[in-house]
Amino acid sequence: MVQVSRAGLGDLIENWGVTNPEVITLQVSNGFSTVKEINRRLILESIRVNSPTSRADIARETGLHPSTITRIVASLIEEGLVREEGVGENDLGRKPILLSLVPEAIHVIGVAIESTFISGVLANLDAEIVAKIEVALEDTSVDGVRGQLIEVVDYLLAWAKRHQVSVIGIGIAMHGIIDTSSGTSVFAPAYGWHDVPMAHFVNNRYKLPVRIDNNANAMALGEYWFGNGKGVDNLLVIKMGQAVGSGIVLDGKIFRGPDYLAGEIGHLTVMFDGPLCRCGNFGCLEAVTSIESVVRKARLQLKRGSSSALLDLVHGEPDLLSFQELCEGAKSGDRLALELWEEVGSHLGLAIANTVNILNPTKILVGGDIYPALDYILPRAQEIAKLKAFGASDRNLTVERVGLGADAVSIGAVTLILREIFQPLN
Ligand SMILES: [Zn+2]
Repeated sequence: MVQVSRAGLGDLIENWGVTNPEVITLQVSNGFSTVKEINRRLILESIRVNSPTSRADIARETGLHPSTITRIVASLIEEGLVREEGVGENDLGRKPILLSLVPEAIHVIGVAIESTFISGVLANLDAEIVAKIEVALEDTSVDGVRGQLIEVVDYLLAWAKRHQVSVIGIGIAMHGIIDTSSGTSVFAPAYGWHDVPMAHFVNNRYKLPVRIDNNANAMALGEYWFGNGKGVDNLLVIKMGQAVGSGIVLDGKIFRGPDYLAGEIGHLTVMFDGPLCRCGNFGCLEAVTSIESVVRKARLQLKRGSSSALLDLVHGEPDLLSFQELCEGAKSGDRLALELWEEVGSHLGLAIANTVNILNPTKILVGGDIYPALDYILPRAQEIAKLKAFGASDRNLTVERVGLGADAVSIGAVTLILREIFQPLN
């Protein structure tokens, strides 16, 4: 009866692991979901977004026949995904029974593979984190990263088993160019990787569905579903740290481009004769706003004799200065630290203005390892973006921090799996 594609949603459902997996009937043929499956997703999505909601409200929102809704909701309740809770009000005096999702029915592992660490979370349907682990990444060879990835996933699966929690899939986010359809890291510049089949490796080991995407895309997806970009259909999410990238949500979908190269905001030129970027170009946003570049510039200024309280923080040794001291300095009002972060804000604001002129996003969010410094960066970035973007006075242009903080990428990785339960692939 069930004809499922290994690469499609089918294997996600095969490993569903909820109360009664037998009652889940997913039929996929030639890559297209059946009407039944589409209806099921429409109803689940309606409950997720409007929870608590009634069967009548679902009918109004989805346009589905009430008998279809009654039948599918009954099956969702039997599976333990949806529950009835309380009664609502309506104009006719009859009190409809309200439905909501059961967040703890399903859990997903989300892994963020960053340049110096791997962070993994186990989260429920509401993206609430129930377990978390972070390990330092010392060896960035393929075997090294895979080894530490296994350590993270093993820990979370063992936790899930101990607490009798169902895990239905593993989402992974990492830097570089990711072919999301084959789950391959096409190019990971910071590791020097080419064509590494990551999803296949993890799927083979754990027999769970695996999805992988670029870390900025994952961050954008997580923010769109659960963070400060919730429900904002046109969203630009910028990830800043040792590298700078962005994830673009256009009309509610991640825009990757045919070669998975969209969103490389870090390589927009913001200074015509600026410093050399690791991409080989000069004056890229990344070359002047990466944490490494700001720390390097601060050290240089100190060595040139700039008077600054930063020197006291590093006992008079400019080379000891790190990102942490640059944040501490700014917090205590040190002029040099504040100027350096404002300069980052100016460059970022310029890049945002240029991007806004092309994409017209409603909201711009900034996150990544630079998060602790955003208080000193974002006011200037917003100011410059408003100054430079075309028609800015008429635009509703807001530059804010991400809502999911340090977990934005790993929650984004969780969302790579969750969205397939609720929505058609995008
Ligand atoms: Zn560059």
